[in-house]
Amino acid sequence: MNDLSRPALGRLAINGQRLWDSLMTLAKIGATDKGGVCRLALTDLDRQGRELFVGWAREAGCTVRVDRIGNIFARREGIDPSRPAVATGSHIDTQPTGGKFDGNFGVLAGLEVVRTLNDLGLRTVSPIEVCVWTNEEGSRFVPVMMGSGVWAGAFSLGHALAARDRDGISVGDALASIGFAGSSPAAVADGAPRLGAYLEAHIEQGPILEDAEVTIGAVTGALGQRWYDVAVTGMEAHAGPTPMRLRKDALFAATHLMQDVIAIALREQPHGRGTVGSVDVFPNSRNVIPGRVRFSVDFRHATDEGLARMDSALRAAADAVARRFPVQAVVEQVVYFEPVAFAPPLVDAVRAGAQRLGLSCMDIVSGAGHDAVYVARHAPTAMIFVPCKDGISHNEIEDARPEDLSAGANVLLQAMLEQAALAPAA
Ligand SMILES: [Zn+2]
Repeated sequence: MNDLSRPALGRLAINGQRLWDSLMTLAKIGATDKGGVCRLALTDLDRQGRELFVGWAREAGCTVRVDRIGNIFARREGIDPSRPAVATGSHIDTQPTGGKFDGNFGVLAGLEVVRTLNDLGLRTVSPIEVCVWTNEEGSRFVPVMMGSGVWAGAFSLGHALAARDRDGISVGDALASIGFAGSSPAAVADGAPRLGAYLEAHIEQGPILEDAEVTIGAVTGALGQRWYDVAVTGMEAHAGPTPMRLRKDALFAATHLMQDVIAIALREQPHGRGTVGSVDVFPNSRNVIPGRVRFSVDFRHATDEGLARMDSALRAAADAVARRFPVQAVVEQVVYFEPVAFAPPLVDAVRAGAQRLGLSCMDIVSGAGHDAVYVARHAPTAMIFVPCKDGISHNEIEDARPEDLSAGANVLLQAMLEQAALAPAA
C-alpha cells in the first residue's frame, strides 16, 4: 500500500444531510409531543428502531449479527477478515423523556461512515463494525449499559437476562418478544469477537464544549461513579396527635443527609459531583409523619481516591444523622464504576482527525457513563464528543446543530480509517 493509491484522509467527508435525515427518521419512532423521544429498551418501539437500523445496515451491504443480550453488530468486511474489527456505535434506547441524539448519533454516525466508504468505493484492511448496545439507559431494566457490560464481563449474561422491569417482565422475555434474542456469544469471555479498536461518537450531554465554543471533544476518560440507595427509617404516626418532640420523622432526618450529599461533592471540586435524584417517602400521605424514606445518591469523581473520600463522608454523615435524630440510616452502595482512562493512541487519533479537518478540539473527561467505558476493558477505546444545545440531555428539548454532528462524524471517519487502514485501490 502506498499513499498515492488512496485519497488523502483529510479530503474525505461524510454526507451531513444524510446523517441528519437518518437521525430525524429514527427520532420519529417514539416521538413525543415536546420534540423528544421515548423509546425504552426492548419495547415494541425499540424493536422498530432496531429493525430500521438493521434494514439500513443491510442496504449498505453489511452483514448483521445479534448476540444473546440483543447487541447488534453490523459488519462491513475488510480485505483481511481475520483482523479484529475496528468498531463504533452506541445505543438507540432512550430515557422516558429522552432526546433525538443521545446514543442515536453514535449509531447513525457509524452507519454514515459505512455509507460514505461505499459512496467512495473504499475498502479497509480491517473490518468495520457498527454496534448497537442493548439497554444503555437503564431506565426500564437495571443495570445500565447492560449490553456492553455483558460483552465486557462486568456482570454475567444470566444476571442481565433475569433483570425485570416494574411489570415483572424479564430482559430475556422482552428480547424474545421483540425478536432480538440472538444466538451469537454475548461476552468476550464466552467467545464474542474481540474488537481491534472502539470509537464512540456522542453528544457531550454537558455544557463544556458549547461554553468554550469548541466543536470536538477528545474524550480522555470518564469519571468514576458510586451509586447508593439510602434508607432512613423512623415511625409513621398521626400528624395531629403526635407532638413535635415525640416524633420519629424519617423525612426530616433524610433532608439533612441530602444536604450533606451536596456538601460532600462541593468539597471535591472541580470533578466531584453529588446528586440526590430520586426520593420515595412512605406512606407519602399528607397527614402522616413519614416513617420511611428511600433516596438515591450518585457520586462521581475523576479518581478512585476522591470517590473513596466521598464514600466515607457519606457513611459518616449517615451515622451522624442517626445519632442526632431518632431514626436509622442505612447506606447501601448499588453501583460502582471505576474511573476510566481511554487509550492514548486513539485519543490522539481523534485529536489528529480534528486537526486535519481544521476543527477546534479540546480534551474533555466524560461525566456520564457510556458503553465505551465498558468496551474499554477489552479494546483500545476513545470517544468523540460534540456540543449539544445548552448542554442539555436526558430531556426532550435535547438539541444539536447539524454542522456539529457532521463534524463529529467526520472526525469519526478519520479516526476509524486511521485504525482500519484504507486498502490500496483495486
Ligand atoms: Zn448515551
